[in-house]
Amino acid sequence: MAKQFANLIGGDWIESPDVTRNLNPSNTNDVIGEYARASAADVARAIAAAKAAAPGWARSTPQERHDALRKVSDEILARKDELGRLLSREEGKTLAEGIGETIRAGQIFAFFAGEALRLAGEKIASVRPGVDVEMTREPMGIVGIITPWNFPIAIPAWKIAPALCYGNAVLFKPADLVPGCGWAIADIISRSGLPKGVFNLVMGRGSVVGEAILQSPDVNAVTFTGSVATGRHVAAACVARMAKFQLEMGGKNPMVVLDDADLKVAVECAVNGAFFSTGQRCTASSRLIVTDGIHDRFVAAMTERMKGLVIDDALKAGTHIGPVVDQGQFDQDVDYIKIGTQEGARLVAGGQRLNRDTPGFYLAPALFTEATNAMRISREEIFGPVASVIRAKDYDEALALANDTNFGLSSGICTTSLKYATHFKRNAEAGMVMVNLPTAGVDYHVPFGGRKGSSYGPREQGRYAAEFFTQVKTAYTLA
Ligand code: NAD
Repeated sequence: MAKQFANLIGGDWIESPDVTRNLNPSNTNDVIGEYARASAADVARAIAAAKAAAPGWARSTPQERHDALRKVSDEILARKDELGRLLSREEGKTLAEGIGETIRAGQIFAFFAGEALRLAGEKIASVRPGVDVEMTREPMGIVGIITPWNFPIAIPAWKIAPALCYGNAVLFKPADLVPGCGWAIADIISRSGLPKGVFNLVMGRGSVVGEAILQSPDVNAVTFTGSVATGRHVAAACVARMAKFQLEMGGKNPMVVLDDADLKVAVECAVNGAFFSTGQRCTASSRLIVTDGIHDRFVAAMTERMKGLVIDDALKAGTHIGPVVDQGQFDQDVDYIKIGTQEGARLVAGGQRLNRDTPGFYLAPALFTEATNAMRISREEIFGPVASVIRAKDYDEALALANDTNFGLSSGICTTSLKYATHFKRNAEAGMVMVNLPTAGVDYHVPFGGRKGSSYGPREQGRYAAEFFTQVKTAYTLA
């Protein structure tokens, strides 16, 4: 019988009769492993363990927190090739992307190892004579962490590292589709010197494990990344019991290309932003808003560039774009490609299933032209390698189209004009703005997050992470 990758509950590895078979989307004959699906009772035990461990960890010294996080970072970075390979094998992004994401996870743990040593409060004079006022940050207590499948090591890292850094106990639920990287992080954390119960891994279904986390009165805060539909549900459940929550959800990110853009830069930004990581990024540029004067040259250069893209097994050298993550996502992508055509957009490249040496979910990246911003393909998140070109008559119209969306995560512009770049940075209705850079691809030491339907609550990453993972106390003393 295959070895089962178990859950980590109160410091013990606990197997389950129910498992997820983790399949390689580049080759569905390749089973990566069987991963335990926690039951509601397992989650209750993990919450009890976290509750018992939380007060001790809240009192831990900056040195203890630093040392644990540093150890995790060191091991992730030392094993980057192996972990990056696991990531590519289970999620389908290329090996270079998988290793890159793993390095990022290691860097995030290193960043928060440093932050643990810099925890500070504020002390100021009171408006009343003889009184001291001090403001300190305290942990939230128990934090539930619920993550999606598309960044299976980086997103867990950017939630787990600050949660532990600021003194919280953790319940971590990775996406059921890609439990391998989540399990690997938990395995590494189990050797980091953290007291038992401070960190717990509960893998499995959203409807069982996620729900048990949301409903528990002992979970003080929930940080969630995933779809809008699940995000709304998380919000409602948390509001009902007054738990703190933070949501990072979908995107429909625009990339504006102006007449004065460097064509080569614009095409590289668009190809990278729209299709790399198989378009399965919340920051992917799915709307390419192109002004009249460059429109035809841009479309010609883009379709030419797309001919050179190699879509194949994620682990093969030379692959630019790996498979779609699973059959369900593949069907969704293909449905939207049909919808785009029915809506009157013109499919000028890709969109068809590709056969490779192994059975996998290979899809040729699809480019539509003659799209309007009112079409469903321009308004709904597809989450695959599908992008549409929307024509605009000038900068003002392009900006208006870019902002005409329910989402607001990342917004990009390609231009050589300082005037337009500056105006766009000020007026784009998005949490992140990119000038002559792809809409996807961000630093790990600065805030990440969006506006409108893309995000809710404080920003993630960098020092801004403290807003979510701590609560502020103001103390007055009569001196
Ligand atoms: P999803 O919403 O289906 O699942 C996300 C997580 O929620 C999974 O762990 C899932 O098991 C869990 N879940 C499902 N039902 C639940 C329930 N009832 N209670 C509690 N938890 C539950 O999303 P997905 O398909 O894994 O990920 C893709 C989505 O994630 C896309 O919409 C994408 O844009 C978004 N995403 C956003 C960001 C960002 O930072 N804005 C980053 C990456 C991905």
